Amino acid sequence: MTLPVARNELIVGNALTVLGGRHMARLFEVPDDAPLVGSVAFGLIDRGTNVVQVRPSSSCPLSCIFCSTDAGPCSHRRRSEYIVGLDHLLEWFKAMVAMKGNGVEAHIDTVGDPFTYPRLADLVQGLADTDGVTTISLQTHGALMDEENATELADAGLDRINLSIDSTDPEQARLLAGTPSYDLLKVVRTARHICSETRMDLLVAPVWVHPINDGELGKLVRLAKEVGAGKRWPMLGIQKCEFHPHGRRTREMRQVSWYDFYRRMREVGLEEGANLVLRRSDFGIRPANALPVPYRQGEKVGVRVIGPGWLRGETLAATRDRKRLVTLVGAELDQGIDLRVRLLRTKDNILVGRPA
Ligand code: SF4
Repeated sequence: MTLPVARNELIVGNALTVLGGRHMARLFEVPDDAPLVGSVAFGLIDRGTNVVQVRPSSSCPLSCIFCSTDAGPCSHRRRSEYIVGLDHLLEWFKAMVAMKGNGVEAHIDTVGDPFTYPRLADLVQGLADTDGVTTISLQTHGALMDEENATELADAGLDRINLSIDSTDPEQARLLAGTPSYDLLKVVRTARHICSETRMDLLVAPVWVHPINDGELGKLVRLAKEVGAGKRWPMLGIQKCEFHPHGRRTREMRQVSWYDFYRRMREVGLEEGANLVLRRSDFGIRPANALPVPYRQGEKVGVRVIGPGWLRGETLAATRDRKRLVTLVGAELDQGIDLRVRLLRTKDNILVGRPA
Protein backbone atom coordinates (compact mmCIF):
# COMPACT_ATOMS: atom_id res chain seq x y z
CA MET A 1 0.00 0.00 0.00
CA THR A 2 1.33 3.46 -0.84
CA LEU A 3 1.73 5.60 2.23
CA PRO A 4 0.66 9.23 2.25
CA VAL A 5 3.51 11.68 2.46
CA ALA A 6 2.54 15.18 3.42
CA ARG A 7 4.76 18.00 4.54
CA ASN A 8 6.63 17.38 7.78
CA GLU A 9 6.40 13.62 7.35
CA LEU A 10 9.26 11.21 7.01
CA ILE A 11 9.33 7.58 5.92
CA VAL A 12 11.32 5.39 8.31
CA GLY A 13 11.53 1.76 7.21
CA ASN A 14 7.99 0.49 6.63
CA ALA A 15 6.45 2.96 9.01
CA LEU A 16 5.63 6.53 8.27
CA THR A 17 6.48 8.75 11.17
CA VAL A 18 4.90 12.16 11.62
CA LEU A 19 7.29 14.71 13.04
CA GLY A 20 5.48 16.35 15.90
CA GLY A 21 6.11 19.36 18.08
CA ARG A 22 7.13 17.16 20.97
CA HIS A 23 6.71 13.56 19.85
CA MET A 24 6.33 11.40 16.79
CA ALA A 25 3.07 9.67 15.91
CA ARG A 26 3.53 6.37 14.10
CA LEU A 27 1.38 5.41 11.12
CA PHE A 28 -0.59 2.21 11.72
CA GLU A 29 -2.13 0.33 8.81
CA VAL A 30 -5.44 -1.03 10.11
CA PRO A 31 -5.51 -4.84 9.62
CA ASP A 32 -8.02 -6.06 7.05
CA ASP A 33 -9.79 -8.27 9.62
CA ALA A 34 -10.40 -5.39 12.05
CA PRO A 35 -13.94 -4.06 12.53
CA LEU A 36 -14.42 -0.51 11.22
CA VAL A 37 -17.09 0.69 13.63
CA GLY A 38 -16.29 1.83 17.17
CA SER A 39 -13.48 4.38 16.89
CA VAL A 40 -13.64 8.14 16.24
CA ALA A 41 -10.17 8.10 14.66
CA PHE A 42 -10.95 5.94 11.59
CA GLY A 43 -13.59 3.76 9.94
CA LEU A 44 -17.30 4.59 9.90
CA ILE A 45 -19.58 6.53 12.24
CA ASP A 46 -23.37 6.20 12.23
CA ARG A 47 -25.31 8.71 14.32
CA GLY A 48 -28.77 7.43 13.37
CA THR A 49 -29.30 9.64 10.31
CA ASN A 50 -28.94 9.14 6.56
CA VAL A 51 -25.35 10.49 6.82
CA VAL A 52 -22.52 8.00 7.22
CA GLN A 53 -19.22 9.55 8.31
CA VAL A 54 -16.32 7.93 6.43
CA ARG A 55 -12.81 8.21 7.91
CA PRO A 56 -10.11 6.59 5.76
CA SER A 57 -7.06 8.23 7.40
CA SER A 58 -6.32 10.42 10.39
CA SER A 59 -3.23 12.47 9.41
CA CYS A 60 -3.19 16.21 8.77
CA PRO A 61 -0.55 18.53 7.27
CA LEU A 62 -1.73 21.56 9.30
CA SER A 63 -1.52 22.41 13.00
CA CYS A 64 -4.47 24.79 13.43
CA ILE A 65 -4.19 26.61 16.75
CA PHE A 66 -7.84 25.78 17.55
CA CYS A 67 -7.83 22.13 16.39
CA SER A 68 -10.32 20.11 18.46
CA THR A 69 -8.56 16.83 17.57
CA ASP A 70 -4.97 18.05 18.19
CA ALA A 71 -4.00 17.01 14.66
CA GLY A 72 -0.93 17.66 12.58
CA PRO A 73 2.82 17.98 13.02
CA CYS A 74 2.49 20.03 16.23
CA SER A 75 0.27 17.49 17.97
CA HIS A 76 1.20 16.87 21.59
CA ARG A 77 -1.20 14.03 22.32
CA ARG A 78 -1.33 11.76 19.27
CA ARG A 79 0.43 8.44 19.55
CA SER A 80 -0.68 6.98 16.18
CA GLU A 81 -2.11 7.95 12.83
CA TYR A 82 -4.28 5.37 11.06
CA ILE A 83 -4.88 4.40 7.46
CA VAL A 84 -7.56 1.94 6.30
CA GLY A 85 -7.36 -0.23 3.15
CA LEU A 86 -9.75 0.85 0.40
CA ASP A 87 -11.52 -2.50 -0.17
CA HIS A 88 -11.83 -3.07 3.56
CA LEU A 89 -13.47 0.35 4.07
CA LEU A 90 -15.83 -0.06 1.12
CA GLU A 91 -16.93 -3.52 2.29
CA TRP A 92 -18.02 -2.12 5.67
CA PHE A 93 -19.55 0.95 4.04
CA LYS A 94 -21.68 -1.10 1.64
CA ALA A 95 -22.99 -3.21 4.52
CA MET A 96 -23.94 -0.09 6.46
CA VAL A 97 -25.73 1.51 3.49
CA ALA A 98 -27.67 -1.73 2.86
CA MET A 99 -28.97 -1.44 6.44
CA LYS A 100 -29.86 2.27 6.04
CA GLY A 101 -31.73 2.12 2.73
CA ASN A 102 -31.88 4.81 0.05
CA GLY A 103 -30.86 8.47 0.15
CA VAL A 104 -27.58 8.04 2.03
CA GLU A 105 -24.94 10.78 2.17
CA ALA A 106 -21.34 9.57 2.52
CA HIS A 107 -19.51 12.35 4.36
CA ILE A 108 -15.71 12.04 4.39
CA ASP A 109 -14.81 13.99 7.53
CA THR A 110 -11.65 12.74 9.19
CA VAL A 111 -9.94 13.77 12.43
CA GLY A 112 -7.23 15.16 10.11
CA ASP A 113 -7.50 15.93 6.41
CA PRO A 114 -8.98 13.43 3.88
CA PHE A 115 -6.45 14.55 1.25
CA THR A 116 -3.79 12.58 3.18
CA TYR A 117 -5.53 9.40 1.95
CA PRO A 118 -3.56 8.28 -1.12
CA ARG A 119 -6.57 6.63 -2.81
CA LEU A 120 -9.10 9.39 -2.16
CA ALA A 121 -10.46 9.48 -5.74
CA ASP A 122 -10.84 5.68 -5.74
CA LEU A 123 -12.65 5.92 -2.43
CA VAL A 124 -15.07 8.53 -3.82
CA GLN A 125 -15.66 6.35 -6.88
CA GLY A 126 -16.38 3.32 -4.66
CA LEU A 127 -18.81 5.32 -2.51
CA ALA A 128 -20.53 6.66 -5.64
CA ASP A 129 -20.91 3.12 -7.02
CA THR A 130 -22.72 1.95 -3.87
CA ASP A 131 -26.47 1.39 -4.28
CA GLY A 132 -28.43 3.75 -2.02
CA VAL A 133 -25.85 6.57 -1.97
CA THR A 134 -27.16 9.85 -3.37
CA THR A 135 -24.61 12.37 -2.08
CA ILE A 136 -20.89 12.33 -1.39
CA SER A 137 -19.32 15.21 0.53
CA LEU A 138 -15.95 15.93 2.07
CA GLN A 139 -14.59 18.25 4.77
CA THR A 140 -11.14 19.83 4.36
CA HIS A 141 -8.98 22.88 5.10
CA GLY A 142 -7.68 22.50 1.55
CA ALA A 143 -3.93 22.59 2.21
CA LEU A 144 -3.25 19.55 -0.01
CA MET A 145 -5.98 20.35 -2.55
CA ASP A 146 -5.28 21.77 -5.99
CA GLU A 147 -7.16 22.24 -9.24
CA GLU A 148 -6.03 18.85 -10.55
CA ASN A 149 -7.01 16.65 -7.61
CA ALA A 150 -10.25 18.61 -7.09
CA THR A 151 -11.23 17.92 -10.71
CA GLU A 152 -10.33 14.26 -10.25
CA LEU A 153 -12.65 14.04 -7.23
CA ALA A 154 -15.48 15.72 -9.15
CA ASP A 155 -15.05 13.22 -11.99
CA ALA A 156 -15.08 10.35 -9.45
CA GLY A 157 -18.47 11.50 -8.13
CA LEU A 158 -17.85 13.95 -5.27
CA ASP A 159 -20.84 16.29 -4.93
CA ARG A 160 -19.71 18.87 -2.36
CA ILE A 161 -16.58 20.09 -0.63
CA ASN A 162 -16.99 21.76 2.75
CA LEU A 163 -13.91 23.99 2.67
CA SER A 164 -12.77 25.67 5.86
CA ILE A 165 -11.30 29.09 5.10
CA ASP A 166 -10.95 30.89 8.42
CA SER A 167 -9.69 34.30 7.28
CA THR A 168 -9.42 36.39 4.12
CA ASP A 169 -6.08 37.77 5.33
CA PRO A 170 -3.16 35.48 4.29
CA GLU A 171 -1.13 36.34 7.39
CA GLN A 172 -3.98 35.66 9.81
CA ALA A 173 -4.88 32.48 7.89
CA ARG A 174 -1.29 31.22 8.39
CA LEU A 175 -1.49 32.06 12.08
CA LEU A 176 -4.79 30.20 12.50
CA ALA A 177 -3.47 27.21 10.51
CA GLY A 178 -0.39 27.10 12.76
CA THR A 179 1.59 26.58 9.55
CA PRO A 180 3.86 29.25 8.04
CA SER A 181 3.61 27.66 4.58
CA TYR A 182 -0.22 27.65 4.45
CA ASP A 183 -1.11 29.31 1.15
CA LEU A 184 -4.51 31.01 1.38
CA LEU A 185 -4.34 32.40 -2.15
CA LYS A 186 -3.91 28.90 -3.60
CA VAL A 187 -6.85 27.61 -1.54
CA VAL A 188 -9.07 30.46 -2.79
CA ARG A 189 -7.91 29.88 -6.38
CA THR A 190 -8.89 26.21 -6.07
CA ALA A 191 -12.24 27.18 -4.55
CA ARG A 192 -12.96 29.35 -7.59
CA HIS A 193 -11.97 26.50 -9.91
CA ILE A 194 -14.31 24.07 -8.10
CA CYS A 195 -17.26 26.43 -8.51
CA SER A 196 -16.67 27.47 -12.11
CA GLU A 197 -15.01 24.45 -13.73
CA THR A 198 -16.49 21.36 -12.04
CA ARG A 199 -19.93 19.92 -11.35
CA MET A 200 -19.20 19.99 -7.59
CA ASP A 201 -20.68 22.43 -5.13
CA LEU A 202 -18.65 24.28 -2.51
CA LEU A 203 -19.67 25.23 1.00
CA VAL A 204 -17.28 27.64 2.72
CA ALA A 205 -17.05 26.46 6.33
CA PRO A 206 -14.93 28.85 8.42
CA VAL A 207 -14.30 28.31 12.10
CA TRP A 208 -15.12 31.40 14.17
CA VAL A 209 -12.15 31.62 16.56
CA HIS A 210 -13.26 34.41 18.90
CA PRO A 211 -11.81 37.04 19.16
CA ILE A 212 -9.04 36.35 16.63
CA ASN A 213 -11.11 36.35 13.43
CA ASP A 214 -14.14 38.34 14.68
CA GLY A 215 -13.56 40.95 11.96
CA GLU A 216 -13.49 38.32 9.20
CA LEU A 217 -17.02 36.88 9.36
CA GLY A 218 -18.64 39.38 6.98
CA LYS A 219 -15.63 39.25 4.64
CA LEU A 220 -15.91 35.45 4.50
CA VAL A 221 -19.57 35.72 3.45
CA ARG A 222 -18.50 38.03 0.63
CA LEU A 223 -15.69 35.63 -0.35
CA ALA A 224 -18.13 32.69 -0.51
CA LYS A 225 -20.42 34.74 -2.81
CA GLU A 226 -17.51 35.92 -4.94
CA VAL A 227 -16.08 32.44 -5.63
CA GLY A 228 -19.56 31.12 -6.53
CA ALA A 229 -20.19 28.77 -3.58
CA GLY A 230 -23.69 27.44 -2.90
CA LYS A 231 -24.84 26.11 -6.27
CA ARG A 232 -27.01 23.42 -4.68
CA TRP A 233 -26.51 23.69 -0.89
CA PRO A 234 -25.97 26.74 1.37
CA MET A 235 -22.83 28.68 0.41
CA LEU A 236 -21.56 29.25 3.93
CA GLY A 237 -21.68 27.41 7.23
CA ILE A 238 -19.70 29.15 9.97
CA GLN A 239 -18.61 26.70 12.66
CA LYS A 240 -18.42 27.45 16.36
CA CYS A 241 -15.00 26.85 17.90
CA GLU A 242 -15.55 24.38 20.72
CA PHE A 243 -12.91 23.84 23.37
CA HIS A 244 -12.21 20.14 23.76
CA PRO A 245 -10.24 18.51 26.60
CA HIS A 246 -7.87 16.95 24.03
CA GLY A 247 -7.94 19.91 21.62
CA ARG A 248 -5.61 22.89 21.12
CA ARG A 249 -6.22 26.49 22.08
CA THR A 250 -4.30 29.67 22.83
CA ARG A 251 -4.62 32.03 25.79
CA GLU A 252 -6.16 34.66 23.53
CA MET A 253 -9.06 32.43 22.43
CA ARG A 254 -12.45 32.69 24.15
CA GLN A 255 -15.35 30.26 23.80
CA VAL A 256 -18.68 31.88 22.89
CA SER A 257 -21.98 30.48 24.16
CA TRP A 258 -24.43 28.96 21.68
CA TYR A 259 -26.76 31.90 22.40
CA ASP A 260 -24.06 34.44 21.43
CA PHE A 261 -23.02 32.34 18.46
CA TYR A 262 -26.49 32.31 16.91
CA ARG A 263 -27.06 35.98 17.76
CA ARG A 264 -23.84 36.89 15.91
CA MET A 265 -24.80 34.65 12.97
CA ARG A 266 -28.13 36.45 12.66
CA GLU A 267 -26.42 39.88 12.85
CA VAL A 268 -23.80 39.06 10.20
CA GLY A 269 -26.44 37.34 8.06
CA LEU A 270 -28.61 40.49 8.12
CA GLU A 271 -25.64 42.75 7.30
CA GLU A 272 -24.52 40.57 4.39
CA GLY A 273 -27.89 39.35 3.10
CA ALA A 274 -27.16 35.66 3.76
CA ASN A 275 -28.66 32.91 5.88
CA LEU A 276 -26.03 31.85 8.40
CA VAL A 277 -28.32 29.86 10.70
CA LEU A 278 -28.37 26.50 9.00
CA ARG A 279 -30.61 23.53 9.72
CA ARG A 280 -30.06 19.84 9.15
CA SER A 281 -32.86 19.96 6.60
CA ASP A 282 -30.78 22.41 4.48
CA PHE A 283 -28.54 19.40 3.78
CA GLY A 284 -31.32 16.79 3.52
CA ILE A 285 -30.29 15.17 6.82
CA ARG A 286 -33.07 13.04 8.36
CA PRO A 287 -33.37 10.13 10.79
CA ALA A 288 -32.58 6.71 9.28
CA ASN A 289 -32.07 3.12 10.48
CA ALA A 290 -29.23 3.01 12.99
CA LEU A 291 -26.71 0.24 13.44
CA PRO A 292 -27.61 -1.60 16.67
CA VAL A 293 -25.36 -0.91 19.67
CA PRO A 294 -24.54 -4.43 20.91
CA TYR A 295 -23.29 -3.36 24.37
CA ARG A 296 -24.45 -1.21 27.26
CA GLN A 297 -22.48 1.39 29.16
CA GLY A 298 -20.98 -0.24 32.27
CA GLU A 299 -21.00 -3.75 30.72
CA LYS A 300 -17.86 -5.89 30.86
CA VAL A 301 -16.71 -7.32 27.52
CA GLY A 302 -13.79 -9.41 26.30
CA VAL A 303 -11.45 -7.69 23.82
CA ARG A 304 -8.14 -8.31 22.07
CA VAL A 305 -5.52 -5.58 21.56
CA ILE A 306 -5.09 -5.04 17.80
CA GLY A 307 -2.88 -1.96 17.65
CA PRO A 308 -1.56 1.20 19.27
CA GLY A 309 -3.98 3.77 20.66
CA TRP A 310 -4.72 7.03 18.88
CA LEU A 311 -3.71 9.25 21.81
CA ARG A 312 -1.07 8.78 24.45
CA GLY A 313 -2.27 6.50 27.24
CA GLU A 314 -4.68 4.66 24.90
CA THR A 315 -4.79 1.25 23.18
CA LEU A 316 -6.77 0.05 20.15
CA ALA A 317 -8.76 -3.14 20.73
CA ALA A 318 -11.56 -5.13 19.08
CA THR A 319 -14.32 -7.10 20.72
CA ARG A 320 -13.74 -10.87 20.58
CA ASP A 321 -16.61 -11.28 18.08
CA ARG A 322 -14.82 -8.70 15.86
CA LYS A 323 -17.96 -6.59 15.56
CA ARG A 324 -16.67 -3.37 17.14
CA LEU A 325 -13.50 -1.44 17.87
CA VAL A 326 -12.91 -0.34 21.44
CA THR A 327 -10.60 2.47 22.56
CA LEU A 328 -9.00 1.48 25.86
CA VAL A 329 -8.08 4.42 28.06
CA GLY A 330 -5.59 4.41 30.91
CA ALA A 331 -3.32 1.75 29.38
CA GLU A 332 -0.81 1.29 26.54
CA LEU A 333 -0.90 -2.48 25.97
CA ASP A 334 0.91 -4.77 23.54
CA GLN A 335 -0.79 -6.21 20.46
CA GLY A 336 -2.36 -9.67 20.91
CA ILE A 337 -3.22 -9.34 24.62
CA ASP A 338 -6.71 -10.58 25.58
CA LEU A 339 -8.44 -8.86 28.47
CA ARG A 340 -11.79 -7.82 29.88
CA VAL A 341 -12.80 -4.16 29.90
CA ARG A 342 -15.65 -2.15 31.37
CA LEU A 343 -17.33 0.07 28.78
CA LEU A 344 -17.41 3.75 29.72
CA ARG A 345 -19.17 4.90 26.54
CA THR A 346 -21.31 3.19 23.88
CA LYS A 347 -23.27 6.12 22.35
CA ASP A 348 -23.40 6.08 18.52
CA ASN A 349 -21.44 2.80 18.62
CA ILE A 350 -18.29 4.68 19.65
CA LEU A 351 -16.89 2.38 22.32
CA VAL A 352 -14.50 3.51 25.04
CA GLY A 353 -13.45 1.14 27.84
CA ARG A 354 -11.06 0.73 30.70
CA PRO A 355 -9.37 -2.52 31.78
CA ALA A 356 -11.78 -4.14 34.28
S1 SF4 B 1 -8.56 21.84 12.32
FE1 SF4 B 1 -8.57 20.35 10.65
S2 SF4 B 1 -7.00 21.10 9.23
FE2 SF4 B 1 -6.63 22.11 11.17
S3 SF4 B 1 -5.13 20.83 12.25
FE3 SF4 B 1 -7.18 20.16 12.90
S4 SF4 B 1 -7.72 18.50 11.53
FE4 SF4 B 1 -6.00 19.60 10.58
